[in-house]
Amino acid sequence: MQRYDCLVIGAGFAGAVVAGELARAGKKVLVLEKRPHVGGNAYDCLDDAGVLIHKYGPHIFHTNNARVFEYLSQYTDWLDYQHRVVANVPKDGAPRERQEYPVPFNLTSLETAFGPEEGKRLGDKLIAAYGAEKKVTILELRQSKDPEIAALADYVYDHVFVKYTMKQWGQTPEEIDPNTTARVPVFLSRDDRYFQDKYQGMPIDGYTPLVQKILRHPNITLKLSADAKRHLTLGEGELLLDGEVFEGPVVYTGAVDEFFGLKHGRLPYRTLDFQFETWQEETFGKPVPKGRHALTAGEFYQTHATVNYTMDEPYTRITEFKRLTGQDLPGVTTIMKEHSRAYTGAPGEIPYYAIINEENNALYAKYKAEADGYKNLRLLGRLAEYKYYNMDAIIARALALADELLER
Ligand code: FAD
Ligand code: UDP
Repeated sequence: MQRYDCLVIGAGFAGAVVAGELARAGKKVLVLEKRPHVGGNAYDCLDDAGVLIHKYGPHIFHTNNARVFEYLSQYTDWLDYQHRVVANVPKDGAPRERQEYPVPFNLTSLETAFGPEEGKRLGDKLIAAYGAEKKVTILELRQSKDPEIAALADYVYDHVFVKYTMKQWGQTPEEIDPNTTARVPVFLSRDDRYFQDKYQGMPIDGYTPLVQKILRHPNITLKLSADAKRHLTLGEGELLLDGEVFEGPVVYTGAVDEFFGLKHGRLPYRTLDFQFETWQEETFGKPVPKGRHALTAGEFYQTHATVNYTMDEPYTRITEFKRLTGQDLPGVTTIMKEHSRAYTGAPGEIPYYAIINEENNALYAKYKAEADGYKNLRLLGRLAEYKYYNMDAIIARALALADELLER
């Protein structure tokens, strides 16, 4: 007698949502997660200073999908948070001074970069060419035949895109998947939010408690620090769990190349190194503890939750968590600098960003064909599908997969 109806590998959003839905429909579900915690890359926790940090990169929830928002709202209340990002760049003509303007580059950015009058004139010209409130990708803008718009496009390309993209991908904006830079278009608007989605916010207690709640159900057995490699083996067209054929649905949300022992070669990824720093206000008679930095003024490190360093610094962006989570913790703050590099598969390295191009998609297709040889195996998630998914997109896919498996 099989103890479980379904097996889910990975307890990030993809795995947790499928497991939660199957369990609430009466199925017995075993979830195997190789990390010692749930939440996948959205995992958050308190650091030594008591600051709520996102250990695997800053996560901001945003969606236009009412089903996804309502689904999550069963498990969390929301902090109303609208994400705003600025680029921090040296001032033209005074490179030792810095200036900040909104990213996506918008009408306010134009006026900051070129001065109020010239910026307004250029903004009006862009609006005449493309329309008010329109979003124009940097690659489209660079196609303009108008010399003034082309020069402006070059400015934005040089100051916002090319160096940041080289740092993030090791390639130019022309070389990477155009959908990637299209996420951050030039926006002919004064709306300085990073996202325009209808629903935006942060789960009030954080992402980890939210995922824990999704997974908390008597029909779910969750095993942490349990790598599927140790439990699941590939038979001839069948999957074996701890040596016995498993016939129920197996939803796999880890890296697909690893599932098949890298038999066709490794799928390329970018990984990130996160440099965390805790900064603390000096209080009279109390020096800042060892290993921490002294905040000189106020209790924040920077002006926005995320500041992009689009020019010369080695890191792409700095996130200040308190500005993201709204945590009330006076006198101390933790920031994180992101450094991107090629993923090598070395122990401890995490594959973060699939590198989408024709060659890599063709390699992925080989693994997908392998997976299709197992009729009860389903691939789901950023790693298993080798795609870029925001949290809302993967939750929507997970809900749809649960519907399909439950035939509802
Ligand atoms: P993951 O979260 O990666 O979960 C997969 C899980 O499977 C992991 O916990 C992993 O340990 C486990 N696993 C893998 N292999 C095995 C195995 N062999 N055995 C057992 N377990 C295994 N999205 C947004 O909407 N907003 C944002 O602001 C945002 N910011 C991001 C910032 C960064 C730096 C990154 C990298 C992503 C960001 N995302 C954001 C995307 C978000 O992280 C993903 O949409 C989400 O993590 C996808 O969930 P998942 O379950 O597919 O993958
Ligand atoms: N990008 C850039 N400069 C910026 C912000 C983004 O060049 O200031 C480009 C870069 O190529 C990046 C892509 O736009 O990888 C998508 O940005 P997004 O903020 O969506 O990246 P993510 O949050 O996924 O790292």
